[in-house]
Amino acid sequence: MKPLAVYVHIPFCTVKCGYCDFNAYAGLHTLRERYTAALLREVAQRAELLGGREVRSIAFGGGTPNELPAADISAIVAAIRAAAGAMAAGAEVSLEANPGITGAGQLHELRRGGVTRISFGVQSFDADELRFLDRLHSPEASAAVVGAARHAGFESVGIDLIYGLPGQSFAGWEANLRRAVAAAPDHISCYALTIEEGTPLAARVERGEVTPADGDLVADMYERAGDLLEAAGYRQYELSNWARPGHESRHNRTYWTDGEYLGLGAGAHGYVDGVRYEDIAHPRTYIEALEAGRGAVAAHYRPDDITAMSDWLALRLRLIEGFDPGDFKARFGTPLEAAAGPVIARFREAGVLDAGPRARLSPRGRQLHSEVAVQLLVHLREHAPAAARP
Ligand code: SF4
Repeated sequence: MKPLAVYVHIPFCTVKCGYCDFNAYAGLHTLRERYTAALLREVAQRAELLGGREVRSIAFGGGTPNELPAADISAIVAAIRAAAGAMAAGAEVSLEANPGITGAGQLHELRRGGVTRISFGVQSFDADELRFLDRLHSPEASAAVVGAARHAGFESVGIDLIYGLPGQSFAGWEANLRRAVAAAPDHISCYALTIEEGTPLAARVERGEVTPADGDLVADMYERAGDLLEAAGYRQYELSNWARPGHESRHNRTYWTDGEYLGLGAGAHGYVDGVRYEDIAHPRTYIEALEAGRGAVAAHYRPDDITAMSDWLALRLRLIEGFDPGDFKARFGTPLEAAAGPVIARFREAGVLDAGPRARLSPRGRQLHSEVAVQLLVHLREHAPAAARP
């Protein structure tokens, strides 16, 4: 049976953080009950697809998934399990949670409801930084929540951190990393703060109220994260992710390795049978469509070969292990050499890609991933065989 990952989007948040451009909304809590009912309807609409697949993972993202009552999360997990043709042995069921609103009771209920892995949006252990990020939780809540999740019996517990905040010092970032290690999670994700267009933070930068962090400092912070986390027993397996052995995210691996996933919920993206699609973004419109018996998909397209190749390469290069060029040929029928040989050679010469049979970014190259992805896309567009062009 063909494998499938399932992503479930929960768009509710207590406040909308100033830096966030996700499909997330504050102040829509009154819609929660109808939203869960709509999600269950979408699962039912997808019964035929789910019935022919082995579900390997279910991931709740957002937004803030634990803004939904734990009973609702359990009901959604149960519905997906019931609809799936099979559930893989040890299937991962993960959930992103806000440390400030996660109580022991809720953690136990989520665990009993089948959630196996939880990851907390800690972001920082510094009260001023949390305020800057509009996060309402305290450093103390973050430090305590990992232990509480362990106590509730989660198989994997993770925390997310953000670095490169305006005004954040190198020492301040190091202190965050040390606090993260002291909390002893199984998994740590580190993301550089990006100033996303259209966000309140971008407006503050434009008005000159906030000065973005210096690029070289941000690069040093990334390098320090790698050194400190590796020394503490966390192995980097993806550009932004470190894990204790056996605790890598299986769900996210599906995204990075061209696997198929069903997206459910407002604005969720999916990739099934070679088609990429996106559900209706606004929760209210999404609910109304499902209540009226209509489908949830707002847009879909089948990527042309150049786009598919470029996405494949960009995502595989996010993995520290890189990829075997034979896998590219097996997927597209074209040798990597023929599709992107000169640009790969150029990056190898410049030390951005490692030497050796696998194609993978060097430690220095990890900071240049976006640049590498763009250059690969440009090369593919200009030089790919005519048959692959849109
Ligand atoms: S809690 Fe997360 S999803 Fe919600 S607004 Fe803040 S950053 Fe965005």
